[in-house]
Amino acid sequence: MPRYFFSSNANKPRICILGGGFGGLYTALALRRYYRHFQGWDVALVNGSQRFVFTPLLYELVTGEMELWEIAPPYRELLRNTPVTFYCNWVESIDLEARQLRLQDRSLIDYDYLVLALGKTGARLPHESVLSFRNLADAQALDERLQQLESRDVDARIRVGVVGGGPNGVELAGKIADRLGKRGEVRLIDRGDRLLPHFTRATQTSASKALDRRGIRVSLQSQVTGVTEDCLEFVQHGERVEVPIDLVVWTAGTQNREIVANLDCLHTASGKLVVEPTLQLHDRPEVFVLGDIASIRDNGVPETAQVTYQQAGYAAYNIWASSTHHPLKSFQYLHLGEMVTLGVNDGVTHSFGIHLNGALGNFVRRLVYTQRLPTNTHSLRVFWHWLKRSIVSGLKKLLLGKKKRDRQQKKACKRQFINSL
Ligand SMILES: Cc1cc2nc3c(=O)[nH]c(=O)nc-3n(C[C@H](O)[C@H](O)[C@H](O)COP(=O)(O)OP(=O)(O)OC[C@H]3O[C@@H](n4cnc5c(N)ncnc54)[C@H](O)[C@@H]3O)c2cc1C
Repeated sequence: MPRYFFSSNANKPRICILGGGFGGLYTALALRRYYRHFQGWDVALVNGSQRFVFTPLLYELVTGEMELWEIAPPYRELLRNTPVTFYCNWVESIDLEARQLRLQDRSLIDYDYLVLALGKTGARLPHESVLSFRNLADAQALDERLQQLESRDVDARIRVGVVGGGPNGVELAGKIADRLGKRGEVRLIDRGDRLLPHFTRATQTSASKALDRRGIRVSLQSQVTGVTEDCLEFVQHGERVEVPIDLVVWTAGTQNREIVANLDCLHTASGKLVVEPTLQLHDRPEVFVLGDIASIRDNGVPETAQVTYQQAGYAAYNIWASSTHHPLKSFQYLHLGEMVTLGVNDGVTHSFGIHLNGALGNFVRRLVYTQRLPTNTHSLRVFWHWLKRSIVSGLKKLLLGKKKRDRQQKKACKRQFINSL
């Protein structure tokens, strides 16, 4: 049985990072700050797919506002010039006692330090025709389905049901409505009594207005009871409602991965791993856990990229501190605000009491996220591409506008001339 890891020098300390999402990738990148210390170490990042996905911008793929390479750069490109080795493989099991992992190809990996950032998956879907929206494959499947529907008879309406009134559902509904335009008939369904329940009132109001402007029908206090290929059924205020539908996208709920549930350590009632404020697993100081699967003792934080991104800096620091016998830092979350997209060129940025919405809110959101993309090189490439696209589309609008104005002027002159005869 092959046994990776990593070099033949058994004296080299080894860090293995599992999961290349916000927690794993940003920890790997943050380790560069201690480059001198980790220079002689073996550091590996293991992820099941080849590309990192910057989930907050995944919606932009639905409308074509951004391209795949911008949102989902390959790990090999991001980790170039770093001491991190990337393994594209699925981890099958983790033996915390033996400090060893088994990969899908049956190879084994030993570690001295382990970073666990495996994230969550979407809830179980109620019907095979229902799509989810959590990763690149989901975004591509949605795009294909929408293309199929768009290629039907031009007069046919395209009826889409989005289930879940959290940020995922609201943002997706706005983007789908803008993509489909007049042909679209989008309905957003949630069992709660308001959309975006964990967001500020100002953001909730902006979101409701944006959905309204797009003609999206919002059904609150509605529990979905059945989905078939062409029908969505829900109960609203005790009444059964059935609506014909072409596509249902399910965004409500998440669940833990089996590999996390099977770990031999302390779990919360909801299946998360209980960690110390230093992000170390209880009784296993060599294991750091972060992101959506971590539940920090006495410190409840939301399951967001913003939290995970901040935790990555702490995880990297604490591995350095632990291996150099310095005191470890407890994770302190700094809430910087909230951002959502509400359609093409429409969004909200709400930070430290300042609320920006519409095109400006969207612009600031895009700017902040572009700056947050992994590695400065990738961030700059995306920024430059955005700038070029904006300049070209601005010039096009200007020229088309000028041509239109010229045509209108000519028509007006003609009319004046005819009138004067
Ligand atoms: C569509 C969408 C939009 C979002 N928008 C926002 C937003 O705007 N703002 C915000 O703050 N948060 C947002 N979030 C939430 C945010 O993405 C998560 O909180 C964050 O990604 C959690 O990071 P993580 O590292 O715990 O997990 P993830 O980022 O999910 O990464 C887990 C990684 O582990 C890999 N993996 C899992 N199991 C295995 C295995 N057995 N072997 C190998 N690899 C494995 C997965 O493939 C994945 O790459 C959004 C989430 C989604 C789905």
